[in-house]
Amino acid sequence: MATIEEIIKKIEENDIKFLRLQFVDIHGNFKNLAVPINKPDDVEDIVKDGVLFDGSSIEGFVEINESDLLLKPDIDTFSTLPWRPEEKGVARFICDVYWPEGKPFDGDPRGRLKRVLEEYRKKEGYEYNVGPEPEFYIVKKNENGEIVPCDDATYFDVEPADKATDIRRELVLALEKLNFDIEMSHHEVGPGQHEIDFRFDNALKTADAVMTFKQAIKAIVHKMGYIVTFMPKPFQGENGSGMHCHQSLFKKGENIFYDPDTPTKLSETAFYFIGGLLEHAKALAAVCAPTVNSYKRLVPGYEAPVYISYGFKNRSALIRVPAARGKATRIEFRLPDPSCNPYLAFVAMLEAGMDGIKNKIDPGDPVDLNIYKLSEDELKKLGIDVLPSSLWEAYHALEEDEVVSSALGEYIYEKFYSFKKKEWDDYRSQVFKYEIDRYLNI
Ligand code: GLN
Ligand code: MG
Ligand code: MG
Ligand code: MG
Repeated sequence: MATIEEIIKKIEENDIKFLRLQFVDIHGNFKNLAVPINKPDDVEDIVKDGVLFDGSSIEGFVEINESDLLLKPDIDTFSTLPWRPEEKGVARFICDVYWPEGKPFDGDPRGRLKRVLEEYRKKEGYEYNVGPEPEFYIVKKNENGEIVPCDDATYFDVEPADKATDIRRELVLALEKLNFDIEMSHHEVGPGQHEIDFRFDNALKTADAVMTFKQAIKAIVHKMGYIVTFMPKPFQGENGSGMHCHQSLFKKGENIFYDPDTPTKLSETAFYFIGGLLEHAKALAAVCAPTVNSYKRLVPGYEAPVYISYGFKNRSALIRVPAARGKATRIEFRLPDPSCNPYLAFVAMLEAGMDGIKNKIDPGDPVDLNIYKLSEDELKKLGIDVLPSSLWEAYHALEEDEVVSSALGEYIYEKFYSFKKKEWDDYRSQVFKYEIDRYLNI
């Protein structure tokens, strides 16, 4: 827990002039306002009283006739923004959103995750941890105005094929200044595609970190004249960008997914958690892979999941259990992509897993075959179901899934559902070049 005195000291030491108050909308976009700091008291007042703002122009928040909301900084999220000027610099807090009267605002995705985590902590002593693997493309506009990858390199390549070695270096240095514990960075399979992994933490800290990660990377790379995209499938025929999420559950400092006395060294609880993720996978797709474009990633052949199954070494499965055991025992859920709102994705994943634990949902046998290569008959025989192949299917699955829809809370669920429906209706009424090329001469 940071103290206000420590924060004031950092503000003075770092010549901070602007304090940004950031919060997250329903889509997972960071929003912010900046308050100039003239004396230490200013910071104290902001932390104590919060700052009122007009919530009616934030999508999914409030109506115009009840527009006032309050931003309350979470002082554990203080950090300086290393890509902003050193002189008269910029720092930020991530905030929780409240009604002016002091009640938490139900439409705040961060507040939702925070409250659910707190409940599990209090009731069961659970600490839910997530470690993400965000992938992204670095692209640029060519002479014809088309978006093209920044290089032609592939998995783990080195310079000069990998043209982003220096970019990743700058990114990692900046992320370290933002207190990220970076585990590794590398070129990914797709041309211009990259990955930077950071250490797991509790789900709230990780969701905050995903937001900060995306903001920092976009801002820094933009300054270098490139564009970063976290869209799930920017290029047809190339790997999409996922954000696999490694999850574990701790109680009294022990990882309760680990059990040294079973053949797999996975506990019964871990298997039930997997059972819950599998059971609710279709509805989870709406939250973890929430855009029309997400479903172009979830096709066979690109290391992205398509079939609802789990395995131990199997990267064609939806869930993989990495080999690490002891404290590092974890479940890798490969459905999420970086277009998701991490707060909503994590709360949905947690409630799905918890439902597995509460109702002892048996995940069945692991599948260690390359599922992409199985025929429909073989899939049927093995009882392997498929993930939704469109946003339409996914949001209908969400509507039918009591556990995942209520994980979002009623307020957010209603808004989220109507946004997804609108997004789909907008998409399905478009006519694409593909259709002209294919059907013009019909
Ligand atoms: N890009 C793949 C995905 O869409 C993952 C590839 C990998 O990390 N090995 O999930
Ligand atoms: Mg990885
Ligand atoms: Mg990867
Ligand atoms: Mg992975």
